[in-house]
Amino acid sequence: EPGLYVAATPIGNLGDVTYRVIETLKAVDRILCEDTRHTAKLCAAYGIATLRAPYHEHNAAAVRPGLVAELKAGARFALVSDGGTPLISDPGYKLVADARAAGVRVTPLPGPCAAIAALSAAGAPTDRFLFAGFPPVKAGQRAAFLKGLAHIDAPLVFYESPTRVADTLMATKEAFGARRAVVARELTKIYESIEAGDIAELGDRFSRTEPRGEFVVIVHPPALTAAPDEADVDAFIARALQSMSVREAAAAAADALGLPRKAAYERALTLKERK
Ligand code: SAM
Repeated sequence: EPGLYVAATPIGNLGDVTYRVIETLKAVDRILCEDTRHTAKLCAAYGIATLRAPYHEHNAAAVRPGLVAELKAGARFALVSDGGTPLISDPGYKLVADARAAGVRVTPLPGPCAAIAALSAAGAPTDRFLFAGFPPVKAGQRAAFLKGLAHIDAPLVFYESPTRVADTLMATKEAFGARRAVVARELTKIYESIEAGDIAELGDRFSRTEPRGEFVVIVHPPALTAAPDEADVDAFIARALQSMSVREAAAAAADALGLPRKAAYERALTLKERK
């Protein structure tokens, strides 16, 4: 079918690509790449001979109108980034918006995304979360950005570079106080690691030597300091039960609200039975 296919590609392990993405990359007229050399590796691994053209932040404004005109005339393009899902801290949003505004069909081809991979293995409550992308680089702007997120009652997910991950953890400590966090590094690659701890402790660990690789930082929501009232506990558990088992909902409530595990489990069981 004519249209724009937004294709997720591996974030490290080349095995993490879907059949549908490979078939589509083979069939389209052109693959729009963040970096054509990078995508060449995926194409070589799967025998994809389709023409590749660059679409990145430096040429996007210049080439977008022409691409949309071609799509309108019936072209079939795939959009990929260097890794993961296009548009998620990656180029493509204006192309998708303009294509849709021009009546072009836009089809997502889902697959890897570092934020989702990290959340799936971090052990933070996941019934909701806020994806915050890359924090600003300048210290003042970063502090203001983090302050604006401090009150949010959900895990926060950040992308960060190896040179800034320790600074960001420390800035997060300044803005949020003591909280649990998880640092997921090099997901799906040889040196994959997922480390949990207090934010300050993790900041200290990663500041000792400059770490290598790619990072996702997840900061747990604020724990309530005063004993939570019953209605808050019930609301939290009921929300968690929408996507979790009784055991998982109880563990999430115990972690987030500082409740004894047994009490959280009993309450979750009662609420589940009442449904
Ligand atoms: N669109 C991509 C996605 O869906 O995940 C994200 C692109 S963004 C430019 C790149 C950032 O994603 C990295 O700096 C890092 O924070 C995170 N990232 C990408 N691959 C990763 C991996 N294998 N392990 C940990 N973090 C990763």
